[in-house]
Amino acid sequence: IERLIDGDKRIIATKHLLPENNINVVVRVRPLSNKEIKSGDEMAVQFPGDGQIYCDAVTSSGDKKPKVFSYNVVFEPNATQEDILQYSGIKNLIEMAVEGFSCTAFCYGQTGSGKTHTLTGPPRLFDKMDPYSEDHGLVFRSFVYLFKVLQEHEKCNFVLKASFLEIYNEKVIDLLNPGTSRKPLAVRWSKKTRGFFVENLFTVECEELDDLLAVLEEGMRNRSIGTHNMNEYSSRSHSILTINITSEQAMENGVFISKQGKINFVDLAGSEMTKKTQSEGKTLEEANNINKSLMVLGYCIASLSDGKRKSGHIPYRDSKLTKLLADSLAGNGVTLMVACVSPARSNASETLNTLRYAARAKKISTKPIIVMDPREALILSLKREVGALQTENDHL
Ligand code: ADP
Ligand code: MG
Repeated sequence: IERLIDGDKRIIATKHLLPENNINVVVRVRPLSNKEIKSGDEMAVQFPGDGQIYCDAVTSSGDKKPKVFSYNVVFEPNATQEDILQYSGIKNLIEMAVEGFSCTAFCYGQTGSGKTHTLTGPPRLFDKMDPYSEDHGLVFRSFVYLFKVLQEHEKCNFVLKASFLEIYNEKVIDLLNPGTSRKPLAVRWSKKTRGFFVENLFTVECEELDDLLAVLEEGMRNRSIGTHNMNEYSSRSHSILTINITSEQAMENGVFISKQGKINFVDLAGSEMTKKTQSEGKTLEEANNINKSLMVLGYCIASLSDGKRKSGHIPYRDSKLTKLLADSLAGNGVTLMVACVSPARSNASETLNTLRYAARAKKISTKPIIVMDPREALILSLKREVGALQTENDHL
């Protein structure tokens, strides 16, 4: 157990032991907004330490049960954007993506809890991209860190390809190439890679940091175009920015090892939608128009953590979101969930819902595997065999 203390000796977060499994769950509590302070709203959360958070909310049954939850890290309102990069575990995800794993970082929480702030920062950032701004979110900071990691792998040759899409109402829209009609793209199954992919999704090869930044900027701009009410829209859509990382390394015997890793940054739809649908007593099918995928993600996480993975069915195929995240959720990778919450009493019941969802996610245990191009893997094993035969021959 660690206390993370900044230069001014303020506690910015408390941290529990690192997870043994491959989902890292952290909570970020945003500060009370000026509006909340003005209206006399007060803090409904407290920080006992050791990665714990206490939420004093009136539960649905009406009794006022205090709730304490513990996570890998709990970021308190004074944590900075840089603190999230340093202590959330995202650096580990980036390193693993470079090593050939499929990794996903997603922000979950009600609308206004700080998901977009955490991932990208305030929208005004994009009016004048200042690379040194303190406001830059986790995505920009991860790009910078990614390039640092790549530079350390001198012997490897890397190709980065980025894509940026959003899922609105189960329709996949390409944020890098939305077209005038915002025509939805199809999600298909690939026999070759044994994974889902988006057909005709625009991908941009990125050689330097500026290329990745341009992708982020372009996608953020297209996210708001053609929408009458940006807030309403972003609270109902998920966005996924993916960086595919192909690495090739020449071995001494002339063999190439090729690995295919990736990292997804996911800004999820507002979690209050789930509750709305459930409270109206709608079935999963009926909820389709509101927000099916967020519910299915919850089901996937819940069934994984219930240990049904071996015996039963995990409903990845029930939503586009879970199809596209299946590889990292199901075992090829590592996942970071940042549960974003408001500290305000007026939001306490939503905060409690988010904390519960996040607590369930913590129990998933997956075993990550490196994705190697099957042809390369075959060549590698054949060359090894030939090598062994040659040595045998030499001895005869
Ligand atoms: P969401 O994407 O979850 O709907 P936003 O990221 O848009 O929420 O945040 C809502 C508001 O709160 C925004 O004005 C944002 O700038 C502000 N905000 C969120 N998190 C923080 C934070 N950690 N520090 C300062 N302001 C924040
Ligand atoms: Mg948002």
